[in-house]
Amino acid sequence: MSKGKLIVISGASGVGKGTVLGIMMKKRKDLSFSVSATTRPPRPGEIDGVHYYFISREKFEEMIAEGAFLEYDAHADNYYGTPRAQAEEKRERGPVLLDIEPAGAKQVRESEPEAVLIFIMPPSMEELERRLRGRGDTSEEQIKLRMERAVWEMEQKQWYDHVVVNDDPERCADEILKIIAE
Ligand code: 5GP
Repeated sequence: MSKGKLIVISGASGVGKGTVLGIMMKKRKDLSFSVSATTRPPRPGEIDGVHYYFISREKFEEMIAEGAFLEYDAHADNYYGTPRAQAEEKRERGPVLLDIEPAGAKQVRESEPEAVLIFIMPPSMEELERRLRGRGDTSEEQIKLRMERAVWEMEQKQWYDHVVVNDDPERCADEILKIIAE
């Protein structure tokens, strides 16, 4: 059997990727989610091994040295990366969704030309900022950093295979499901 596709989903923090991915996985049971490793602390409600593997900077750097990441990047003062072994194991069972930012997406594109790269846009920058503030768990400093980062990310969307707007999570999820069914 051939390996499952890698489906990369990028979009600014606060754009609603988590909700969209959740809807997609409910509708297509063969999809699995690549759980990233990160050095950032968990937000309220986040579970180790489900949303992320929360690991120390030391451990992360050890894994970089071992070549254990399919891709990784440092942003917003922390490391984020896709553990290679886990992604490969999940691909045995079907397509794997990667929620990663553009620097990581570029690395995946280079090592896996067959990967499908999808960029999710907010309806507007004002709406993105409103959503970030609405989360209530992000400091002013973090909001400023994330908005600056969002501007850079938005410029990267040009080299993605598909760009979709998250005006409504259900509609957005359906649009992506249609893309990956092609
Ligand atoms: P957050 O801290 O809000 O969970 O995520 C911040 C950003 O990190 C998001 O844009 C998310 O897509 C990205 N991210 C999460 N996991 C990974 C990963 O494994 N690799 C890379 N390159 N980015 C990631």
